Amino acid sequence: AGDRTAMAEAAAASRPPPDVDTDDCLREYRHLFSPDILAGQVAFITGGGSGIGFRIAEIFMRHGCRTVIASRNLQRVSEASKNLVAATGQQCLPLSIDVRQPQTIVAAVDEALKEFKRIDILVNGAAGNFLCPASALSFNAFKTVIDIDTIGTFNTSKVLFEKYFRDHGGVIVNITATLSYRGQALQVHAGTAKAAIDAMTRHLAVEWGPNNIRVNSLAPGPITGTEGYRRLGGKFAEEASQFDMIPLQRAGNKTEIAHSTLYLASPLSSYVTGTTLVVDGGSWLTSANNFPALLGIASSSAK
Ligand code: NAP
Repeated sequence: AGDRTAMAEAAAASRPPPDVDTDDCLREYRHLFSPDILAGQVAFITGGGSGIGFRIAEIFMRHGCRTVIASRNLQRVSEASKNLVAATGQQCLPLSIDVRQPQTIVAAVDEALKEFKRIDILVNGAAGNFLCPASALSFNAFKTVIDIDTIGTFNTSKVLFEKYFRDHGGVIVNITATLSYRGQALQVHAGTAKAAIDAMTRHLAVEWGPNNIRVNSLAPGPITGTEGYRRLGGKFAEEASQFDMIPLQRAGNKTEIAHSTLYLASPLSSYVTGTTLVVDGGSWLTSANNFPALLGIASSSAK
C-alpha cells in the first residue's frame, strides 16, 4: 500500500482536483483549461441545482459560460444559483422544470432564450435512482426511472433541437452510468434507463450531425459528495475498502466529472460525437458485483 501511495502522489496526471462534499462552490480553483474556453456561451443544465449537475454549472461558469439550471424544486435551484453567481461572477438563471412534462421544458427554454438569446450547450443530468432488487421493484418504480432518465433526456433534447439547435448547432452531453455494462445488481431500472440513453446518444448524433450538433454521453463511476454516492452505498464501499478494487484506488469527485463534461462541451472535442466517455477510474472493469453486500446497503438505507 505504501508503494501505491507513493506512486499515486507522483502521478500528477491522475491527481484529483480539490472538491467539497456539499452543494457549495469550491473554496479554491486552479484553471487547467483556458479560462475563456466557454466565453460568451450559454449552457442549459437539467439537475443543475445539486450534486454533479451543480459542479458542472460552477466549472462551466468559471470558464466564461452563463448557465440555466433547471429541476423540479425551484427553491433548490434558486439557492444554488445565488451561490454560483457569488462564486463565479457569471449569470445563472434558475428555472423549474419536470423533464417528464414537455410543456414545462418548452416554457423554460422560451424563458432562457428570452433572457440570453442563445443556448449552446445542453447537459442532461436529471435522474432518479435507488437500490432495489428487480423482484421487489414495483411496476411503477421501474417506469418512473425510465420516465425521468430516458424519456426526460429525449424530451429535453427534442425541445432544445426544435427551439434552437436545429438552426444554430449545439452540443449535448448526456450523463449516463456504467451500470448496464456488467448488469450491476439491484440496478435493473437505472441500468436499463442509462443504456437506452447511450443508444439515444448514437441515434441523435447520427441524425443531428448535419445540423452541427454533437451528442455524447458521459458515464461517471462512484462520485463523492453526491446523492448517488450516499444512496448507492459509496460510504459502505469506502469503509469496506472496496475502492482497492478500482484501478485508480479511489472514488472520483464532482470536479473531475465537471472537467470531463467541459471537455465534451467545448471545442476541444470538436470532432467527437456519438460516443460515451467513461469517467470512473477504471472502476467498472474490476469492481465487485456483490449481490449480498448491496442487499445489506439497500435494507439499511431504507430504514
Ligand atoms: P442528484 O444530486 O440527486 O441529481 C439529480 C438531479 O435531478 C437533482 O438536481 C434533481 O432535482 C433532478 N431531477 C430529478 N428528477 C427530475 C425531474 N423529473 N425533472 C427535472 N429534474 C429532476 O444526484 P447526483 O448523484 O449528482 O447525479 C447526477 C447525475 O449523475 C445523474 O444523472 C446520475 O444518474 C448520474 N450519476 C451519478 C453517479 C454518482 O456517483 N453520484 C454515478 C453515475 C451516474 P429536483 O429534485 O429539484 O428535481
